[in-house]
Amino acid sequence: MTESGGEFDVVIIGAGAAGLSAAKHLASTGHTIKIVEARTRAGGRAHTMPTEFGFAVDLGCEWLHSADINPWVPIARQLGFTIDETLPDWGRRIAWIKGDAAQREWQTAMEAFYARLDRAADAPDDQPASNLLEPNGKWNALLGAISNWANGAEIDKVSVRDYGRYDPTYVNWRVREGYGALIGRYGEGLPVAFDTRVERIEHDGPDVRVVTDRGTLSARAVIVTLPTTVIAEERVKFLPALPTKVAAAAGLPLGVVNKLFLRLDETGARALARETDRHLVGALDRVKTGSYQIRPHGWPMIAGFYGGTLSVELERGGIDAFTAFAIEELVGLFGSDIKTHLSPIASSSWGLDPCARGSYSMALPGHADDRMTLTAPVDGRLFFAGEACSIAHFGTAHGAYLSGEEAARAAASALTPSPGRTGAAWRGAPQIPAGT
Ligand SMILES: Cc1cc2nc3c(=O)[nH]c(=O)nc-3n(C[C@H](O)[C@H](O)[C@H](O)COP(=O)(O)OP(=O)(O)OC[C@H]3O[C@@H](n4cnc5c(N)ncnc54)[C@H](O)[C@@H]3O)c2cc1C
Repeated sequence: MTESGGEFDVVIIGAGAAGLSAAKHLASTGHTIKIVEARTRAGGRAHTMPTEFGFAVDLGCEWLHSADINPWVPIARQLGFTIDETLPDWGRRIAWIKGDAAQREWQTAMEAFYARLDRAADAPDDQPASNLLEPNGKWNALLGAISNWANGAEIDKVSVRDYGRYDPTYVNWRVREGYGALIGRYGEGLPVAFDTRVERIEHDGPDVRVVTDRGTLSARAVIVTLPTTVIAEERVKFLPALPTKVAAAAGLPLGVVNKLFLRLDETGARALARETDRHLVGALDRVKTGSYQIRPHGWPMIAGFYGGTLSVELERGGIDAFTAFAIEELVGLFGSDIKTHLSPIASSSWGLDPCARGSYSMALPGHADDRMTLTAPVDGRLFFAGEACSIAHFGTAHGAYLSGEEAARAAASALTPSPGRTGAAWRGAPQIPAGT
């Protein structure tokens, strides 16, 4: 992009799953587009990192959730990526540690909790998910730990209504070459201005002006796919201001989830060969614990997964803090010998990342409907997309893809209004007038 920027039908802010999907759909309808991306790479919270050990690791999204309806699955097949259809054993984590009887007990407690949650999700008043825990319940710590992994936030911060609206099919697959690599490849060839940070979106003139640190672009419509925390912290400003949008984004903050990858030496890898693709919980009696994926795809490594306050604390300490914590928990699971066979490869720090400020969106109690407010277009020319705009698939890369596609359709129809259908009418969604 030159200092003078340029003029386009649609400028898309963000080259993550939502932005790339919106751009692909608009490019196919012949619109002139430009994606503006602050990072030097595409993918956003989808990021595959190669290692020197012959495999790549996903620092962000990894699982093709709801794989049987996930649009990234046919895209992956078409692009020649390898899909591993091995289902995760998340439901069997207790049996390995405590045996089958404890596993059955946990299963009963967990199903009862989610049944209470589903009922409460339809009640007139929203509430924190922690209200549905059994008082002093034996499995409350594990239910809390699962909230940390699933939402990136403690269970008392999570809206029951929003949690209840999440609608997975429970088919979870993986892309062997990496989910981030897939999303990056999908975006190849699209016109992206990398390393270009949007500072302001001015929508008071005849065209929308996107002011960046490298110049200003002009567009008839703009699709904003910024992570909610970035919007809530007003790292990008709207002129005139959009306080309703900013408040909605603040009601849907990104929870913090991080990963650590530990290499297993040959002896360690041999010792854990039978545990290939097994998932284990670091400790069953505390919320602040990790989930461990042993030898994913058979590779000589262990992936640790940490959510909520624990994750925020560990990312501040960097890879050393993650490694020390993980090794203590893994020694608890496999015995002290394991620590001599492990060495750190990489860790993430999504909460500290200025382009993300977290991992995936959750709704604070009372804020489930903020997803609709966030998504509503402004004046038929500012459109919003991103995982947080998905009601049933929020927090996921396919939710982001689908929301990008919807925003692209809405922008395209706004640019070419047909008789009886104005650009402002979109899915019957309420419009937000500028300046509110
Ligand atoms: C650790 C972790 C694990 C996850 N696991 C899974 C999983 O297994 N399965 C799954 O489906 N999902 C998972 N997710 C969630 C998934 O990665 C996200 O939901 C999805 O990638 C979000 O896509 P998006 O396009 O909405 O946002 P993003 O990918 O965040 O895209 C927004 C883009 O905007 C850019 N941007 C920010 N500020 C500016 C600015 N000022 N100017 C210009 N550009 C800017 C960002 O750099 C970014 O590229 C995980 C996420 C994390 C972090």
